[in-house]
Amino acid sequence: MDTKPLIADLFIAGAWREGSSGDRFPVIDPADGSVIAQFAVASEQDCLDAVNAAEQAAPGWAATSPRTRGEILRSAFEILTREKEAFAEIMVRENGKAWGDAMAEAGYSTEFFRWFAEEAVRIPGEFRLAPGGDKRIIVTHEPIGVSLLITPWNFPAAMATRKLAPALAAGCTVVLKPASETPLTAAYVVDVLRRAGLPAGVVNLVTPVPTGPAVTAMLRHGAVRKLSFTGSTEVGRVLLAQASESIINTSMELGGNAPLIVLKGADLDVALEGTMAAKMRNGGSACTSANRIYVHRSLHDAFVEELRTRLAAMTTGPGLVRENKLGALVSVKERDKVAALVDQAVSEGAQVALGGRAIPGSGAFYPPTLLTGVEHGTTITRTEIFGPVAVVVPFDEIDEVVEMANDTDFGLIAYVFGEDGEALRVAQRIQAGMVGVNRGVLSDPAAPFGGMKQSGLGREGGSHGILEFLEEKYIATSA
Ligand code: NAP
Repeated sequence: MDTKPLIADLFIAGAWREGSSGDRFPVIDPADGSVIAQFAVASEQDCLDAVNAAEQAAPGWAATSPRTRGEILRSAFEILTREKEAFAEIMVRENGKAWGDAMAEAGYSTEFFRWFAEEAVRIPGEFRLAPGGDKRIIVTHEPIGVSLLITPWNFPAAMATRKLAPALAAGCTVVLKPASETPLTAAYVVDVLRRAGLPAGVVNLVTPVPTGPAVTAMLRHGAVRKLSFTGSTEVGRVLLAQASESIINTSMELGGNAPLIVLKGADLDVALEGTMAAKMRNGGSACTSANRIYVHRSLHDAFVEELRTRLAAMTTGPGLVRENKLGALVSVKERDKVAALVDQAVSEGAQVALGGRAIPGSGAFYPPTLLTGVEHGTTITRTEIFGPVAVVVPFDEIDEVVEMANDTDFGLIAYVFGEDGEALRVAQRIQAGMVGVNRGVLSDPAAPFGGMKQSGLGREGGSHGILEFLEEKYIATSA
């Protein structure tokens, strides 16, 4: 395969450069453990330089016409569309995901540039007479200011573009801090924005090691007015506390523990197809992944048998071999976490119907795994698995399954399969920001993505996504 040169530097004030220490950290291909790049370490000062660059570029970018901002984003969309395979290949190499998952992410992530190119020119406003007739009410939206964007490794492209596109469309300048496992995809996206004509300083990329102190320093800089974070609830909680020091506006896309419910009236084929998508998309390393699969007892045995067949048919191996349907986990550490969770489930009474043992070798592979006989409330039903492990729990009554589905601190997403009317009624009782009815994939740049409870604050995508980067201002004039 034609492999593209990788960018492994910091991007500050419109230029690619080394970190000031000259140090680098390795980026590992989890399919074989090899080092694919040495990425520049950003010092705290480099991170503050990035915020300074964003601060300097902010007035100019805010004053750039919405049409021009939109056209730069549109151009980024076109470049990434043309370079889709090269883009997908970088994701496969540093994240380990299967080729099909990488191509799907390349398409999905690119769409955020198109969607927000269109939203840039539709920022809302109001002009109306006050009810008392004494004044005019003008409501405008202005860019919130310098935005710090922090992203995880599981969707290295989409989590970045879902923040970059609305922030830039809104007129904000940004500092992007990608996960240290997957900085190469982020660097590629940032370079595409440079090639699309984004002025210097509007987007900056930093990769500090260690992460915590440098992020704290940036949050304390004074210029940062927005923190948009996607990652674990644990880190989100820490960042919320830090953001509170300077009352920084936050958007939080955090962890999930998605229930998937198969009601008595479900079409088994539709439910199985949806379950495969909801569980196995991105090898299960998704905040949207079906973590607990509740199946009505009347369908349970047939469902389990067919799910086992479909899971067993998934070939596991390096994502660069395009036929493989399940790639590597992002690291051996992450694979071992999944393995330990399965062992724990077995010790709590689960039966292994398929898989259940890490594939030996230097690659971070874990096979498609099916656990049955799982009790609701055991560790695996309370923990975000983040791997290719399907956990099936039988149920009898609708009230019982709704209670089990809602019995979690998380509320990101849920799936309900059943006869349309009944599935919709159950969907309305689930405490989650998103519910799929008779479908296993919901994500769409044009729809609001986000969670309730400890799964987060705010929404990305849709017409709401850009509002997260805008400050509402009310101006009163005489009538
Ligand atoms: P993570 O450990 O929380 O890391 C996410 C990001 O936060 C990374 O860039 C990481 O940088 C950074 N970080 C870690 N510690 C930090 C600290 N003390 N201060 C500031 N930044 C810090 O999450 P992950 O393991 O990468 O991703 C998996 C999690 O993300 C799962 O819980 C998943 O559900 C969640 N997720 C949620 C959504 C959603 O939309 N709701 C989407 C995708 C993933 P380093 O890599 O340098 O440590």
